[in-house]
Amino acid sequence: MIEMEQDYTPVKKEMTRRMVDLYCRDMHGTDGICPACYKRMMDTYKRLDACKFKDKGWPCDTCPGMCYSGDSLDFMQDVMEHAKRWMATHPEEAAKMMPPKDVTPGQGA
Ligand SMILES: [Zn+2]
Repeated sequence: MIEMEQDYTPVKKEMTRRMVDLYCRDMHGTDGICPACYKRMMDTYKRLDACKFKDKGWPCDTCPGMCYSGDSLDFMQDVMEHAKRWMATHPEEAAKMMPPKDVTPGQGA
């Protein structure tokens, strides 16, 4: 579990996995994450691992660095758009998906 430690990478990975899972189920009709989405998710994980601002918290859009680029950026934008639409129609389930309360966005560099 995340307590006082400063590396939010596990939280970001878990949120990414949940969003990709949702996206893939709805867009690709798979039970779980299809190989193509899985590969892109792993790509994203690598970027999260390499992130210089991993202690700045969630969400990543407050981050001064841009983790996602090229294919990954398009893919993650689709995934996040999908997640936003899903949250709007499933507010109760969405609330359970929120990161822990103590995980707050950083103030930028
Ligand atoms: Zn997929």
